[in-house]
Amino acid sequence: MRQRGPLTPDGDAGRRPAGASTPGPGGPAATFPRPAVPSHPTPPTRDRPTAVQGGRVALRILIVEDEKTIADAVRIALAADGNAVDVVGDGGSALEWAQSYAYDLVILDVILPGIDGFTVCSTLRSSKVTSSILMLTALDDVQDRIDGLDRGADDYLAKPFSMDELRARVRALGRRRLEDREPTVHVGDLWLDPATRSVRRGAREIRLTAREFAMLELLARHPGHIFSQDRLIEALWTADFVAGSNIVEVYIRSLRRKVDAGRRDGLIETVRGAGYRIRTTGQA
Ligand code: CA
Repeated sequence: MRQRGPLTPDGDAGRRPAGASTPGPGGPAATFPRPAVPSHPTPPTRDRPTAVQGGRVALRILIVEDEKTIADAVRIALAADGNAVDVVGDGGSALEWAQSYAYDLVILDVILPGIDGFTVCSTLRSSKVTSSILMLTALDDVQDRIDGLDRGADDYLAKPFSMDELRARVRALGRRRLEDREPTVHVGDLWLDPATRSVRRGAREIRLTAREFAMLELLARHPGHIFSQDRLIEALWTADFVAGSNIVEVYIRSLRRKVDAGRRDGLIETVRGAGYRIRTTGQA
């Protein structure tokens, strides 16, 4: 039997915020008004992202591609690798989305309706968006590649490309982003090492899932800063993650159980009506 696209939590059809300008009303890629495209079975819309197990880095990825078959294939492949993937189909939406959400990676086609990929790339860089950018260029068009790199792209891949190569490039960009981060993070007696995804509180080793780690790392890199539920969802799940979900509470509770267990000096603080933060000394 042919291997189906993943019905992984992030593998459902290009969920996007209600306000997104494209593609099309109602949003999900599965309901693109182009019935001719062979469709994947529509997964339940209530599918939710779950923590990615194992040592793999889950990236938040924005695919900017107007050819639905390519966009779908890339989305499915990358979601199967444990990434959180959004899809938009034109340059204007690409700018809107990439400037609104902290993507690790933007996969950017050159030829797009509206604003072209090169302009999107340079606009993102001039607006200080630090997401990695992988441009999809025309085969053999050396000038395209040079233009992309000159405008701040991190890598390019010529069309048509093999999905395995794309996945390898994405993994490499993900590793590079990890290496670019501060090697370790610590607040009080809490230590995190993103490279090995290990966590210690004092002498005690703590085991976290990938997404628990990502949440704790985000909080710990900004001690004292209050993160709202929406902000945490934006940072750690796909952009239009189901509103009203209690997923953040669930993760916070789990983190507390693991990180603050048996301690009077809990590090993870709930700020009523505002969000969560890592307590710094003096905020006790
Ligand atoms: Ca295109």
